[in-house]
Amino acid sequence: MDLRYSSDDLAFRDATRRWFETNVPKVELKTLDERREWHRTLFAAGYVGMGWPPEYGGQAASALRQAIVADEMARVNAPPTINGLGIGIVGPTIIHHGTEAHKHRYLKKILAADELWCQLYSEPNAGSDLASLKTRAEDKGDHFEVNGQKIWTSYGAISDWGLLLARTDTSVAKHRGISCFLINIRQPGVDVRPLKQVTGNQEFCEVFMTGARVEKSDLVGRLGQGWEIAQTTLSYERGGNSLARVTRYTSAFHELVKAARGLRRGGRPLIDDPLVRAKLGRIYAELEVQRYAALRVLSALDKGEGPGAASSITKLSYSEFEKRYFELALEILGPYGQITAGLPEQLNTRVSASSGHGETWAYAYLWSRAGTIYSGSSEIQKNVIGERVLGLPKEARADRVK
Ligand SMILES: Cc1cc2nc3c(=O)[nH]c(=O)nc-3n(C[C@H](O)[C@H](O)[C@H](O)COP(=O)(O)OP(=O)(O)OC[C@H]3O[C@@H](n4cnc5c(N)ncnc54)[C@H](O)[C@@H]3O)c2cc1C
Repeated sequence: MDLRYSSDDLAFRDATRRWFETNVPKVELKTLDERREWHRTLFAAGYVGMGWPPEYGGQAASALRQAIVADEMARVNAPPTINGLGIGIVGPTIIHHGTEAHKHRYLKKILAADELWCQLYSEPNAGSDLASLKTRAEDKGDHFEVNGQKIWTSYGAISDWGLLLARTDTSVAKHRGISCFLINIRQPGVDVRPLKQVTGNQEFCEVFMTGARVEKSDLVGRLGQGWEIAQTTLSYERGGNSLARVTRYTSAFHELVKAARGLRRGGRPLIDDPLVRAKLGRIYAELEVQRYAALRVLSALDKGEGPGAASSITKLSYSEFEKRYFELALEILGPYGQITAGLPEQLNTRVSASSGHGETWAYAYLWSRAGTIYSGSSEIQKNVIGERVLGLPKEARADRVK
């Protein structure tokens, strides 16, 4: 793998850097309208959905170019796009499995944030064991009628549409009886209720569907193909923006070192403590491992290899690293690490702000706990790696599809 950028890529990076330095918002974006406007500024500049085909509003940009943009955004702590799930997950799923009519109807509106999207997969008794989901979609002749409950729906409260998995056949093995739909969640049969998290925010929702309507034309793929389609979605979710993430951690690392220089323990700067230095050194080495792992993913994507099951390795590795990283930050900051508001500027971190969250290390620490759960917990990633990457014997389960 060649880790050098071409002169064209370097020129692209310089132009991108200048654009972000000039255009990044100078104040925090608080309202939905402000975030939508920023998204549209990014879109107009060509920085949203860059990898999508040009006929649907993208530029078929290489994975490397996309990574450069993500990296430059992270460098200046630019706020994220508002339609993250639409762009990262729903769009690619429609591009892979949707009809031409789906592509024309939905993709440009996703890119322009005219319609915001969420992912309606998990249920109260179907998280890791997603194939056990019970939400039903019944064929009513000219449409499907949906009844059931979803949970942990990120950004459900601001979304207009959802990518839905629902059961359409109970007479076959559970993985085979699931179908994938596009559902308008702003209709009378859908009740979206926000949930409050440990961080104090309300990003999640419960979504109750009672006699909700899905048009026949909004089935994605074939009836019963939902499980297969979900695998595409999840591999995109797990592959992620790994290089940008590393850039954010690196700038947070420098903030942590600065904090360790400023804080004093026993009359001496914390950074003089050999134990603190050793722990910082160790986490920095781990950070470099993350950087090269991200470059490896990028190289595979650049060769046109889809994220696939190996994306589970990336996801497992960065999410577990993230927990160790923020645990160390809290250890170093001591009591300051517990404070969630009103810290002096030099004791804040902007790492979580760049992903649209709060600014304190305490917040980043709390948020890091989520990484080993969403889009499949660490235990589930290990099962996927064992079975689908390493080809180890499958876990013995009576209901498993052979
Ligand atoms: C921040 C965040 C955002 C999310 N956003 C969305 C969203 O937008 N849409 C959506 O549909 N869902 C979303 N989820 C839900 C997420 O997909 C589920 O939480 C996840 O799949 C785990 O399911 P669960 O919570 O039901 O836990 P469970 O499946 O009940 O798991 C509980 C524990 O048991 C372990 N476990 C379960 N099965 C096995 C096994 N076979 N082998 C070993 N260990 C096992 C798990 O690892 C875990 O530790 C989100 C979750 C988080 C944290």
